[in-house]
Amino acid sequence: MNFPGLDGNTALKARLSEAMASGGLSHAYIIYGENRDTLQRLADILAAAMLCSGADEKPCLGCRDCRKVFGGIHPDIKPVLREKDKRNYAVDIIRDMAADAFVLPNEAEKKVYVIPEGDCLTHACQNAALKVLEEPPRHAAFILLAENPGSFLETLRSRCIELFISSEPSETPADDSLALEFISIFENGDPLEMVSFAVGLEKLDRVELMDFLTGLNAALVRKMRLDITGDRERYLKVCDLVSRLIKMAQSNVGAGSISGALAVCANTILK
Ligand SMILES: [Zn+2]
Repeated sequence: MNFPGLDGNTALKARLSEAMASGGLSHAYIIYGENRDTLQRLADILAAAMLCSGADEKPCLGCRDCRKVFGGIHPDIKPVLREKDKRNYAVDIIRDMAADAFVLPNEAEKKVYVIPEGDCLTHACQNAALKVLEEPPRHAAFILLAENPGSFLETLRSRCIELFISSEPSETPADDSLALEFISIFENGDPLEMVSFAVGLEKLDRVELMDFLTGLNAALVRKMRLDITGDRERYLKVCDLVSRLIKMAQSNVGAGSISGALAVCANTILK
């Protein structure tokens, strides 16, 4: 499995990759962690892996489904939100989710319900979700996010796979200065600057080039998530370009050709 933008958590990643390789992901997860952004990031990655229609390792980051999930616009990702002025979810919201789960997905083979504030599910809400978690339709999956395992009834926890995620940075934080430089040049929109940046990439070795491309992919995903007012379509196009370049790099295409393709294609998107 790919985990764009998620640092550390080696054991968790290994566990999920193994599950994916041996039959696929579960239909229900509870993810615990202190940092909302990290929780949401893993939820996006799991949801993308479930919906991904690409042939490569999932989430492939390049297919239509992946791009829509990470762009926050996939119609088969269903955020389940509580009413703004209420402290907890209303039971009816959970009943509606359970009923809606039996409606077929719009575009993908699955639909994923994400409950971002699992700590705000009352016992009545959790009881209302038990049946659909026990016997969900084949196309439905559920991801609950929470800070505290104590929020949940044992009956609910036993129907879900529980994951604990840490937001500690990895031991060796990745150097994403090149990725940030690319984004800044892309935003400035000067084609000559882009060409000279790309020429600089030619001196990278294979590993450095791959680090730059995967770091850029993660930085773009973060950018789209944080800056929802920005030009999302343009960023989706760059994400698409970067995942194609990653494939080129994986099949041993040299740094010169990749940097050339980056300059030409990025400038096409700039126009
Ligand atoms: Zn995909």
